[in-house]
Amino acid sequence: MSIQNVMVIGAGQMGSGIAQVCAQAGFNVKLNDMKQEAYERGIASISKNLSRNVEKGRMIEDEKSQVLGRIQSSLDLKDAHDVDIVIEAAVENMEIKSTIFKTLDEVAPKHAILASNTSSLPITEIAAATKRPEQVIGMHFMNPVPVMKLVEIIRGLATTDEVYQAVEDMTVKLSKTPVEVNDFPGFVSNRILMPMINEAIFTLQEGVATKEAIDEVMKLGMNHPMGPLQLADFIGLDTCLYIMEVLHDGFGDSKYRPSPLLRQYVKAGWLGKKTGRGFYEYN
Ligand code: NAD
Repeated sequence: MSIQNVMVIGAGQMGSGIAQVCAQAGFNVKLNDMKQEAYERGIASISKNLSRNVEKGRMIEDEKSQVLGRIQSSLDLKDAHDVDIVIEAAVENMEIKSTIFKTLDEVAPKHAILASNTSSLPITEIAAATKRPEQVIGMHFMNPVPVMKLVEIIRGLATTDEVYQAVEDMTVKLSKTPVEVNDFPGFVSNRILMPMINEAIFTLQEGVATKEAIDEVMKLGMNHPMGPLQLADFIGLDTCLYIMEVLHDGFGDSKYRPSPLLRQYVKAGWLGKKTGRGFYEYN
C-alpha cells in the first residue's frame, strides 16, 4: 500500500506538527480545520518552526518554501476524496471524532487508511462509525510533534496487518520510531503518564506544596525534563481532563477520578499554554 497524499484534520498544536513532519518527509498534505483562523494559526506555527530550522542551519530557505508548498489548506472534509491516509487530530471527544470518521468513510477513496491521533479514545469505537473498521488505526504522536520521536501505533480490534504495516512504514519515513500497542484505555503512554499528572494536581489542590515545588521535586528527583504541572499546561488541561475521564469510564476504577481542581481550571478556560494560562501564565 503506497502512501503519498495525506490529509491532517485539526490545525491545532498536534495537527500542525503532524502536517509539518509529513510535508518535511515529502508527503503532499491537506491541512483541514473547521475554522480558517485555526488553519492560519497552524500554518504560522509551522512557518515559525521551519524558520528556526533555517536559523540553526538545519535547513536552507529553499527547503522551507518547498515544505510549505506541499501543504494546502482545507475547510471541507470532502477534500479527502483523493488522499491515501487521513490523520485526524481534532479535539479529544468521541462524538466529534465519530462524526468526522463517518463523513470520511463516505468521502475518502476506498483504499484510504483512516488514522486518529487520539490520546486515549478507543480506536475500535472510532472504527465502528465507519464501514471500513479494518482500515482504521491509531497513530498517536507526542507533543511537540517535530521534536518527539515516538509514535504509538494502536491496532483496533479489526485493523489488518497490511494497514498496520503501511502505517508503520510511513512512521519510519517521518523519521519517527513506531511502537505497537493494543487498544485499551489510555494505551500505554497515557495510562501511565496521566494518573501521574492527575496526582500532581491533587497534591497541589491539597496544599502539600506549591506548583513550583511539585514540579521541582519531579524534575530534580525523578530526572524528568519537565515537571508534571508544566507538562499538563503543554498538553492542554482540557485534553488531560478528557483522558482522565476516558480512563475512569474505561476501567470503572475510582483511582482514575479526575481532580476537581483540574475540572475547575478547564471550566475557567485556563487550558494551559494554548490559552496563555493554566497552572502557569504564558505570554
Ligand atoms: P487543539 O485544541 O490544539 O486543536 C484542535 C483543533 O481541531 C482546533 O484547531 C479545532 O478548530 C479543530 N477541530 C475541532 N473540531 C474539528 C472538526 N470537526 N473538523 C476539523 N477541525 C476540527 O488540540 P490538540 O492538542 O492539537 O489535540 C488534538 C488531538 O490530538 C486530540 O485528540 C488530543 O487528544 C490528541 N493529542 C494531543 C496531545 C497533546 O499533547 N496536546 C498529544 C497527543 C495527542
